[in-house]
Amino acid sequence: MDFDLKTNEKGNLSIGGADALELADKYKTPLYVIDETRIRENYRRLHEAFSQHYDNFKMYYACKANTNLAVMRILEEEGSGIDAVSPGEVYTSLLAGFDPSRILFTGNNVKNEELEYVVASGVTVNVDSISQLKRLSKLPGTNGMKISIRVNPNVGAGHHEHCITGGPLSKFGIMEEEAVEVYKLAQELGFKPVGIHSHIGSGILDPEPFKLAVESLMDIAGAVHQDAGVEFDFIDFGGGIGIPYTPEEKKLDINLFAEKIVGLFKEKLGEYKLRNPTMCIEPGRYIIGDTSVLLTRVNTIKQSYRKFAGVDAGFNTLLRPTMYGSYHHVVVADKPNAEPTQKLDIAGDVCESGDLFARDRPMPDVEEGDLFAILNAGAYGFTMSSQYNSRPKPAELLVKNGKTEVVRERETFADLLTKQNVPVRLLK
Ligand SMILES: *Cc1c(COP(=O)(O)O)cnc(C)c1O
Repeated sequence: MDFDLKTNEKGNLSIGGADALELADKYKTPLYVIDETRIRENYRRLHEAFSQHYDNFKMYYACKANTNLAVMRILEEEGSGIDAVSPGEVYTSLLAGFDPSRILFTGNNVKNEELEYVVASGVTVNVDSISQLKRLSKLPGTNGMKISIRVNPNVGAGHHEHCITGGPLSKFGIMEEEAVEVYKLAQELGFKPVGIHSHIGSGILDPEPFKLAVESLMDIAGAVHQDAGVEFDFIDFGGGIGIPYTPEEKKLDINLFAEKIVGLFKEKLGEYKLRNPTMCIEPGRYIIGDTSVLLTRVNTIKQSYRKFAGVDAGFNTLLRPTMYGSYHHVVVADKPNAEPTQKLDIAGDVCESGDLFARDRPMPDVEEGDLFAILNAGAYGFTMSSQYNSRPKPAELLVKNGKTEVVRERETFADLLTKQNVPVRLLK
């Protein structure tokens, strides 16, 4: 198993030095628990792996993975930039203290009022389509503006079809073969294009597709430099670095990965005589995925046609298993390393059949009242949660060296109803 489980002297799961059982008792379940130290370690490990081979290197945390303000503050302190995919993420990032110069806005199917907002906030815009480019050019204050363009390098990869964002079926970016023309158009429209970007998918544990995409993007950048005369300030390879979710998956050797990617990058810089641009990546999952667990309590053991362990979280709390069929490792918090004795379906409390965290999962003996820890829940966990079935969203807890702070309060029933208005004529 390539993710570390820490236990304390009682044999209970320890998260950032705090006892999972005590946290669940004190703060109730379901509960997201985030380990601050691990966020910092992940950031530094990745940054070091790349920057030791090329010092003009920057990371833009893809905040759609987790937009908790405390998480954003930690990454701001670490020196990260932000990849924001919506005006709301730009707003959140600014509030978290990121200077606009450290924020890249990579929207898709962006409407004009959103463009106005991001231009006014002073962040760098990464353009996704010719339509967007033309509409952007009509906005006041965009003449001479520095922009980047997202290219689909015709290579895709990812842990699920929904997470492949490059290749011929993807809705993202402009096509490889139109890149030179689009950069020329950007210049004609009065922009100063200084960046090029691609993001081919998410949850990549195999370096090969990523290397292909880097190679392809560098060839495109080379052509744009030579044929449109663009001098690149930055070349951005997007995010997508995966983490192991199943016990069988192996961690990507990040040092080897970085060495290969940077090697290729430098080789292509030389080939196309590109001048020392900043190399950028946009990790989301890698930074935050393994930093958090979702604690949820077993309230029902049911022997139906199958054996179910029913818990007090559902796809409203953690959508990935239902949405992508994703595997999340589940341990019993007071015996996280216990050997399996049976196979169970782990089901949530949402009224839908698809509300399952696991089917036929080998598990040790489990009783009602046991606490489950769903691992690797930090990325696309809380951010994809909803109030479906009128269930208030859970709390988020930040742990550092055993000390805990509530960084998002548990919602109440009243929160389910904010923003609703009942017309006066319907009032009772
Ligand atoms: C989602 C996204 C990322 C991050 O993907 P991860 O797989 O979480 O690293 C990076 N860049 C863009 C443009 C994205 O949309």
